[in-house]
Amino acid sequence: IERDALFRKKHGIHISGHNVPSPLQSFKELSSRYNCEPYLLHNLEELGFKEPTPIQRQAIPVLLSGRECFACAATGSGKTLAFLLPMLVKLEPGSVDGVQAVIICPTRELAAQTTRECRKLAKGKGFYVKLMTRELVTNGDFKKMHCDILVSTPRRLQFAIRKRKLNLSRVAYLVLDESDKLFELGFVKQIDLVVKECSNPSIIRSLFSATLPDSVEDLARSIMHDAVRVIVGRKNS
Ligand code: ADP
Ligand code: MG
Repeated sequence: IERDALFRKKHGIHISGHNVPSPLQSFKELSSRYNCEPYLLHNLEELGFKEPTPIQRQAIPVLLSGRECFACAATGSGKTLAFLLPMLVKLEPGSVDGVQAVIICPTRELAAQTTRECRKLAKGKGFYVKLMTRELVTNGDFKKMHCDILVSTPRRLQFAIRKRKLNLSRVAYLVLDESDKLFELGFVKQIDLVVKECSNPSIIRSLFSATLPDSVEDLARSIMHDAVRVIVGRKNS
């Protein structure tokens, strides 16, 4: 415990919440602690990711322990991997029950980028990673489509839900990426709808952000249960 505290201090990791799991010393630890499959470690190596970044060191074990997570770290600090890796470790591809993970991004560009990163990381495992494109939202039928991980902007997701094209009742992971931007852009209503539609009681929600204004903190508190808060560096850097 003392060792964890020193290690966090060394990496500028600040936590709040009870029973916070130990930070990751290395990616290798993922196999011993969480049964991470070799293909994932191999993909990390291929991508040139040698050491976890500070936010990854703490947010990944939090999510892998089944806890909800509210994470704040500067732009460029590797938050994407911090939410993608846990779902890839825990989920099985090819579910017939519908979407297993939803990632909400504030812009189309970011959603496309996150989709690409997810596909690279998942390579070799057969996950269906789908980007909610305009085509998909207007003509797609999720009931007939394989989709394990869905990446979308808030409005497209709202549209698909309202058209009853999309059933989110089996979603095990819900990620709100760049929550500060989601909030600034006025997507609270869409987020509320998605949170409500993701009715699986064992869902793990997480919120990632570069800054932590009170608005985001309030949003986090209103939608998450017993979340661990992880901050790297200062709150609004
Ligand atoms: P953020 O979402 O925090 O702004 P990103 O997830 O987009 O940051 O990551 C920024 C860059 O760092 C990306 O190019 C990503 O591939 C790279 N990256 C992420 N994790 C690592 C790591 N552990 N080691 C090296 N590079 C990494
Ligand atoms: Mg990001």
